[in-house]
Amino acid sequence: MSRVTLQGIPVSAGISVGKAFFMNRRSFENVPRHTVPESLVSAEQARLDLAFRNVHDELTQARDKIPTELADHGTIIDSHIMISRDPKLLARSKEIVRDTNITAEWALEKAVREVERKFEAIDDLYLRERISDIRLVAQRIIKKLLGQHHEEEVVGVSNRVVLMAHDLTPADTIGLDISKIMSLATVEGGKTSHTGILARSLQIPAMVGVTDLEKYVNDGDLVIIDGLKGKLIVNPEEHELELYSDLKYQFENYHKSIIRECQLPGETIDGYRINVFANVELFEELPAVLENGAEGVGLYRTEYSFLSRADLPGEDELTDEYVQMAEMLAPRKVVFRSLDLGADKLAKVFGDLREPNPALGLRAIRFSMRHRDLFRQQLKAVLRASVTGNVALMFPMISGINEIHEAKGVLREAQAELEKEGHAYDADMPVGIMVELPSTVFIADVLAHEVDFFSVGTNDLIQYSLGIDRLNRHVSYLYQPLHPAVIRSIKYVVDAGHQAGIEVSVCGELASDPYCVPILLGMGVDSISITPQAIPGIKRIIRQTTMEDCKNLLREVQELFQVSAINHTVRDTIFRRFPEELTFYASILDNEELPA
Ligand code: PEP
Ligand code: MG
Repeated sequence: MSRVTLQGIPVSAGISVGKAFFMNRRSFENVPRHTVPESLVSAEQARLDLAFRNVHDELTQARDKIPTELADHGTIIDSHIMISRDPKLLARSKEIVRDTNITAEWALEKAVREVERKFEAIDDLYLRERISDIRLVAQRIIKKLLGQHHEEEVVGVSNRVVLMAHDLTPADTIGLDISKIMSLATVEGGKTSHTGILARSLQIPAMVGVTDLEKYVNDGDLVIIDGLKGKLIVNPEEHELELYSDLKYQFENYHKSIIRECQLPGETIDGYRINVFANVELFEELPAVLENGAEGVGLYRTEYSFLSRADLPGEDELTDEYVQMAEMLAPRKVVFRSLDLGADKLAKVFGDLREPNPALGLRAIRFSMRHRDLFRQQLKAVLRASVTGNVALMFPMISGINEIHEAKGVLREAQAELEKEGHAYDADMPVGIMVELPSTVFIADVLAHEVDFFSVGTNDLIQYSLGIDRLNRHVSYLYQPLHPAVIRSIKYVVDAGHQAGIEVSVCGELASDPYCVPILLGMGVDSISITPQAIPGIKRIIRQTTMEDCKNLLREVQELFQVSAINHTVRDTIFRRFPEELTFYASILDNEELPA
């Protein structure tokens, strides 16, 4: 029961104190290594039989749910099913139990290691890589043997817990029963990983990148999660519990005070107006959007409603969802982003794409163009919703002019189909693109004549400009939102957009950071779209500043070229003005120092 403090990356503000509950751990590293008495050998072998059988059944059920038109994507599951019924792996594991009297999970791990050694000797790269499938299936079986929790098992927890996991995919996170979870911490993840974004939307304190989480925290340990500073205290002392309950109280009071004025417009003291919209992942967030004073939805991440299901929604189902959304928000605007599937956002029906570099692979608009029917169906649903409210559409991860033409080509096909079917749509619905790639930045002046608006997705723009995987905690210290290249890129896009007479919005996490917002204001950004919970605090900052101050800060920052100097200047200036806001924020500028 010793006290330990762990550091991680704060991704969702707030404090929580509660009991730890592990949803998953890194499988092989945590396999318990015990021997068993002779009398239990056959019981261990029977556990192996059962776990193999259960996993085989689970995989078969998952395979059966794949629609026939997507049968191609079932081949990975098929290969996993074959592995799960491979008599050799099971027989060898049971043999090891018999010969060495060790537990079922340890024996299976050993059996897999033997196969690994055999595979290493094979020349054929393709065959050699198949070991990763064996490992995946074995991990699943080991998880079964260890009785580890799956997301659905959180339902069985009676009190709210602090959820711990090695990693949570966006699909895992939306599958959680949020009424049972007071906060969460994971080993994997970076500053703008989607799990963190979702935690903010769900208003639960969260931290990611907690390297030693699995080493020091056990189920049932009392832990404090400080989602403001990214600190996790295991088995805290009495005075720490008092300190944090005090901080929690102050945080909640601060929150109440900003909520009172959140419906006021985002307008600076000297009358400059910036629209403050919300980023939304799930339909259920809409009440929070309105309560927090959003002037509309500037980014609806439509792919999230594809993540938690085993099938694909049809056009009518999507239309219902989008119409409801548009109607609920009208006359406020809602910007539907077409599917941004791929990378860490994998829909179950498509299985794991198994790409060597998922962030550089088949994601976003590329994925949609590959699945053109699905894309057209989605665009038809957005178009049908366009007559029921104030609707706009944008395409993610556009890299150049051809992609815009291709995407618009599918939009025209969708319009033609709707005309044939007699469905109404708004032919003037604004169509924009997300600016998330350096290539797009450099030709923003050209692209601005092709679309109705730009929305700068800084999460990806930073990832691709600085070459930093946004999910990777090892390089998280290099994920620098105020890198001079990032500042110049955004400024260039804003100027190019304005020159062509189109609006420019910023919708990445940078726009919900109190340190960064004054800089965006100084650039003349027309709107920001941010996590709903950040709106009240950010609006307060906007309302208490002047455009002149923001322009001065931008000028000062543009003359600096070291990120540390920029961060220092920004922190200093903003903190002097808004000490309270900054006490209660998990800034993405934090943790920029080199890892120990
Ligand atoms: C972004 O990249 O900044 C963005 C808003 O899109 P997402 O976080 O969904 O990739
Ligand atoms: Mg993005």
